[in-house]
Amino acid sequence: MDASRSSSHGKFDIFPGDMSGVIADLHHLSCCPRCVLRLCGEKDIEIYRKPIKELEKNIASIVGEATNTENSTVNAPVQTMDNHNGSSQPVCPSCLGLLTLCTDENFLEKCRADVEEEDFQFSKYSLSVSVPLQLLIREHSILLHLRQKHSQLDVFKAVTSEDIFQVKDIFKWIFSQMLAEVLEVAFVPLCPFEVSLSFTHEETDAECGTLIKTDSCKEKGTSRPRKKRKLVKRNAITKPAVTEALSKLSNYETFKREFTKCPLTSPSRAADCSVTCQHSPIYVAGRYNKYSRELSQTPWILEGERKGVTSVEELICEKIKLKVIAKGYNFSSSGREDIDVCTLGKGRPFVVEFTNPHRVKLSSSEMKQLQEDINGSTKIVAVRDLQMINKSEIAKLKEGETEKTKSYSALISIDKAIEPEDLQFLTDVKNLVLKQSTPIRVLHRRPLAVRDKVIHTMSADFINPHHFRLYLCTQAGTYIKEFVHGDFGRTKPNLCTLMNANTDILELDVTAVNLDWPKQIDD
Ligand SMILES: [Zn+2]
Repeated sequence: MDASRSSSHGKFDIFPGDMSGVIADLHHLSCCPRCVLRLCGEKDIEIYRKPIKELEKNIASIVGEATNTENSTVNAPVQTMDNHNGSSQPVCPSCLGLLTLCTDENFLEKCRADVEEEDFQFSKYSLSVSVPLQLLIREHSILLHLRQKHSQLDVFKAVTSEDIFQVKDIFKWIFSQMLAEVLEVAFVPLCPFEVSLSFTHEETDAECGTLIKTDSCKEKGTSRPRKKRKLVKRNAITKPAVTEALSKLSNYETFKREFTKCPLTSPSRAADCSVTCQHSPIYVAGRYNKYSRELSQTPWILEGERKGVTSVEELICEKIKLKVIAKGYNFSSSGREDIDVCTLGKGRPFVVEFTNPHRVKLSSSEMKQLQEDINGSTKIVAVRDLQMINKSEIAKLKEGETEKTKSYSALISIDKAIEPEDLQFLTDVKNLVLKQSTPIRVLHRRPLAVRDKVIHTMSADFINPHHFRLYLCTQAGTYIKEFVHGDFGRTKPNLCTLMNANTDILELDVTAVNLDWPKQIDD
């Protein structure tokens, strides 16, 4: 098509002269000006951005009608409808009104108000648009009609949906800029905050069913699907299924027989639109202490029943969730302790993902306040270094998983009476390699294996002849309880073999998780 054009006169010079019959035809079918443009193959997006009134005027002048479209008469059945802008124009049979809505002030205002109502914090936005699948069928029917009626025009002999701009793309090009202006933020594709417009059109939904049914009936006649499941899948109304079915329905007469008409005509109402907003997750990291021997790290569910009233995860996350107004959260940490183990010292690093948060930027003083709120609400958990982090930083938590060391303090009982000197040799044990079989108590959730674990250093404080306190620094993932009691010989060597007596563990505390992450926050 001719690229040179001017908007100052009444005619589109983008169309070769002999296209005016097609334009008149589309106009009489009540196609909107933007659909007339795209069905004629117009590829300059700037033309589509022109006000709808101006486009209407140009088209009316091409088809030789009065420029006042309110008084214009069309050959197609004119239905008066109550579409979004309350006008009495027929709804475009091709885009179901979408390409009129995209520059409609009332529609724009409704979308702006809907986004505002959701009350998200954002500084730019991206747009996703979903359109009814029957738009493909409707466009196909119009192309079949044009090919049939204007067979003298070479240009329509092979035109398919792939050769013309799609309704959804034109809508997005135009509307994304308009919405950006009223939201007063930039439109940035793929940015964290997304506005989704979902268009539906109940009145014409059955057209997809008609198409897919037609397709599968035809299939049945030739070769029967082998499995019932396959048939169900084939009948599902998806975009690939609709596209495939349309590719087989390339004959005008066949289409007309199946749908009783070709092209499909104006519906009585324009498509409906629902607006939703979504923000990508935010991440909050910190370190926690656990001071209770009756608190699980995550909610403890046994055979569908909740055990214990709360957990480390809930004590930390619920307050933050309220603050950022998130849909949910996922807690993870650098290892975990048993219910009866305390985590002391500087605590254990953790990170929480909050999904669909409405508040995404918290200042350092807000974070500090949040930390104080958490710490003020409970005596059994404390957090420090609470901060927002980027998703990429989580990798450091996971990387540290295998290399880091952990320090422990354990209260030990021993069956034979000992003297303080009997504990001396423990200090000399360095980098003791253990062969540790998966402990019996975790066999139900961990595969059976023998793993090498290293105890880097040990020392002990004598308490009385039958009790002492053992300090250990070990490789991450070492099972301390099993090292102490031996787990029926499944951990070798163990404290029993080293002390040549039966030893048991009465209390265990994690005193340090030696991972320098996340960064320390100064008070
Ligand atoms: Zn249209």
